[in-house]
Amino acid sequence: MEKKVGIIGGGQLGKMMILEGKKMGIQFVILDPSKDCPASSIADEHIVEDFYNEEKIKQLAEKVDVLTYEFEHINADYLIRLEQAGKKIYPSPSVLKVIQDKYEQKSFLKRRNIQSAPFRKVDSLGDINLAVEEYGLPVLLKSRKGGYDGKGNACIKTLQDIEQAYDILGGSSAELMVEAFVPFDKEISAIVARGSNGQVAIYPLSENIHNDNILITTIVPARVDKETEKKAELLAKKTIENFEGIGIFCVEMFVTKAGEVLVNEIAPRTHNSGHYTIEACRTSQFMQHLRAILEQPLGNTDLINPAVMLNILGEDGCTGKAKVKGLHTVLEMDNTYVHLYGKQEVQPKRKMGHVTVVDIDINKAIKQSEVISKVLKVINE
Ligand code: AMP
Repeated sequence: MEKKVGIIGGGQLGKMMILEGKKMGIQFVILDPSKDCPASSIADEHIVEDFYNEEKIKQLAEKVDVLTYEFEHINADYLIRLEQAGKKIYPSPSVLKVIQDKYEQKSFLKRRNIQSAPFRKVDSLGDINLAVEEYGLPVLLKSRKGGYDGKGNACIKTLQDIEQAYDILGGSSAELMVEAFVPFDKEISAIVARGSNGQVAIYPLSENIHNDNILITTIVPARVDKETEKKAELLAKKTIENFEGIGIFCVEMFVTKAGEVLVNEIAPRTHNSGHYTIEACRTSQFMQHLRAILEQPLGNTDLINPAVMLNILGEDGCTGKAKVKGLHTVLEMDNTYVHLYGKQEVQPKRKMGHVTVVDIDINKAIKQSEVISKVLKVINE
């Protein structure tokens, strides 16, 4: 296609996007402060710089036909100015700006009648007390910006927890919100693509299992009944139609025991819970994102086979030069696709790679992924 794409961020999501884009002859320039970030080894050019450096972002933008990003904690204000000056940036930084702030994001959803947990802005301790009175305990106190993998969240279970949670998250000098705790039965997500012509394509629902707020396993299709599936798909589609962004989005949702579906949050980018699409779908989320941002038709999102994706995290207690254990055994297994991100340093719970198992029998795939989780480890040398 002879197009040049700029990516802000050079982590594993950027790396997988480049791997897909190379199939179509796309060139990539990345901006990432880390010299040996995962995407660095395969990017055509790497600008080693902080995500907020406006001069370097401008330089990146000038080198490419379209600019995108692989994570959301970046300089949205500057990107808005670049977009106003005529640069193509997808998804639009004005969409990013709303999504970056959990309170603005939830307020947007509320205005559009998209269900999520009740919430309110926190300007003082009094606002938390009001939320507790209104929603009952527990509630979740959240940093409005910059949180990921549950960082920036504090659960308030008793009245005595209120002050401590407020202090931990920065108190009166922090931008906070509080929301009702959803006693969910399952967490699911939908990868949704929106093309430049407004066409929306949704992937099969992922069922996500977390540990310590970090995604461990994704099972596809999600094990929910047909009615819940329909409801979640409609909700996810409606959400992305309302944002009107171009590219891949992930809509994370809660399913309650009563079958109610609520939006938790939206990521304006490819997502860990969509990694299964590489081997299990007709078009991967990364190829789909490139199709969308290059203003090409979207690809087919059908599932070829059910799949289980297992994240490979750094082992607890392991810090230092990374070493992979058990690879030989896993590579002997059928229907198993190993991805290692090439991160040199391991830290406890750092995302070092993932494995996708595809099988017509989802229970077989789940069992196999359980074996893999015991065998494949990333430790330090
Ligand atoms: P977040 O980063 O806000 O998506 O939160 C990380 C994790 O915290 C989610 O994946 C959920 O497991 C949990 N969580 C977030 N918000 C709520 C909520 N309102 N009720 C229950 N659990 C929540």
